[in-house]
Amino acid sequence: MHKYENISQPVIKRLPRYYRFLGELLDKGVTRISSRELSDKMGFTASQIRQDLNCFGGFGQQGYGYAVQSLYNEIGHILGLDHCYKAILIGAGNLGKAVAVHMSFEKRGFKLIGIFDNDPAKVGTVIRNITVTDLDKLEEFCKENKTDVAIFTVPKAAAPSIADRLYQLGIRNYWNFSHYDLSINYDDIIVENVHLNDSLMILCYKISDACDEPEDAQEFRKAD
Ligand code: NAD
Repeated sequence: MHKYENISQPVIKRLPRYYRFLGELLDKGVTRISSRELSDKMGFTASQIRQDLNCFGGFGQQGYGYAVQSLYNEIGHILGLDHCYKAILIGAGNLGKAVAVHMSFEKRGFKLIGIFDNDPAKVGTVIRNITVTDLDKLEEFCKENKTDVAIFTVPKAAAPSIADRLYQLGIRNYWNFSHYDLSINYDDIIVENVHLNDSLMILCYKISDACDEPEDAQEFRKAD
C-alpha cells in the first residue's frame, strides 16, 4: 500500500506539472501565488488547483495564496524525488544515449549507475562518465551493485530475454521505452512506459478533428 494512496492517480499525474511550474516560479524569485494566478498560468481551473492541493494538506491560506517553496518541497516529497534509486540503462543506442545524457536523474530521485549493451563497438565507450559494459556482465554487476530500476532502451526483439534476466536478478521497477509490454509477463513489477509515438498519434487525432489535411499531403505520403 502506498503511503499516499489517498491521493488519486489523476492528481498524481498532474503533480510533475505543478512541480515543474513551481520550480520555474522559484527561479524567478516568486515566493507566493494565488490559486487564480496559478490557474491563469497553468491552464487548470482555480477550483481544480484548490482541490488538487487540498488532497495533501492544502498549503494555501485565504488572502495569502500558496507559499511556493513549501508547496514545491511537499510535491517533491510526495513524488519521492528526495530518494536516490539506483538505475541501470540497457541499450546504449541513439535513444539510450539521449536518455542517459539528457535526463536530470539526480533531481528526479534516481542515480544512473550502469549502462549496458551487447555491441562491441559500444562496449567501453563512455556516456555521462559511465563506461558502457557488456551485457554479459549484467549478473556480476547487479550482484555487486544494488540496482532498483532498469531503463529499457533496447529493440523489442531483444527485450524478453533481457527482462527475464533482470527479473531473476530481483529487479522489479522499469522505465520502459521499448515496445515490449513488460507488464503482460510479470504481474509484480512497476512499469512506467514512455511511447513518443503514442503521444504523436494523439496529437494527430486532435489535429485531424480541428483542421483539414494540406492539399499536397498525398505527395508527401508517397515520398515517405
Ligand atoms: P538503436 O539501434 O540506436 O539502439 C539500440 C541499442 O540496443 C543498440 O546499441 C544495440 O546494440 C542495443 N541492443 C540490441 N540488442 C541488444 C541486446 N540483446 N543486449 C544489449 N543491447 C542490445 O535504436 P534506438 O533508436 O536507440 O531505439 C531503441 C529502441 O527503442 C527501438 O527498438 C525503438 O523501437 C524504441 N524507441 C522507442 C521510443 C519511445 O518513445 N518509446 C522512441 C524511439 C525508439
